[in-house]
Amino acid sequence: MLRRTLSMALAYRPGGLLTAKIHLKHVSVATTEGYAHRPGGAQGHFLAEVEEAERDHHLELTAAAFRDFQAGIMPAGPGAREVIAAFRHVDQALDGYTAEEPKVMDSDRQLVNLLRNQAQYLHVGAANYCWFKDPAKALCLKLAGTPVTADSRPMAGLCDSARCPQATHHPCHRPTWAENAERTKTFLGTIPRGHTAARERARADLARTLRVLEEIDTAAASPGPAREGT
Ligand code: SF4
Repeated sequence: MLRRTLSMALAYRPGGLLTAKIHLKHVSVATTEGYAHRPGGAQGHFLAEVEEAERDHHLELTAAAFRDFQAGIMPAGPGAREVIAAFRHVDQALDGYTAEEPKVMDSDRQLVNLLRNQAQYLHVGAANYCWFKDPAKALCLKLAGTPVTADSRPMAGLCDSARCPQATHHPCHRPTWAENAERTKTFLGTIPRGHTAARERARADLARTLRVLEEIDTAAASPGPAREGT
């Protein structure tokens, strides 16, 4: 009853329905609309449309990363190995389709069907992709000390993609890291010599950024998606 009263108090404020959805951790806004006696509200439809557009976008990004993989431009970062394994699996399945059912489906539809599973885990970060497959492995949740539940979501504000096992870096993220390197170098030059701790922090940040850049470049120059047994 308390949750219901709270949801109604929140939902009747401007923009409050989505606020209530987030605070009560409802998976669907339709649940919140039911709680707040506002079933079938326009915000539910709007959110459903946003979610659908987001799903399509994630599928496009995953397909682009897969096409890169086929061209030998591999993802980098701590989560790269797992993503490469998933892409290799899709690549082999595509070969199977081509051999067994050449006329049943066109290649784009095959690809979309095969990549849908991987794309559902994608969250787009400012400087990385987050493949949020297993909340228990999420570094951001560990750093926040947040209990892991079925509704857990990535906490982008605490993202440390250079260390999280679910993060990958792709060539599209390179400019962000390169800009950060330049900014950190400039910042380092402004810290007085006596401020040792601050200089050490900036140096560590710069080293991490340069390492990520090097990894992106190395992975992009990979020889290609070697098949198992080759
Ligand atoms: S730390 Fe970053 S990459 Fe890892 S789960 Fe959190 S948001 Fe995703």
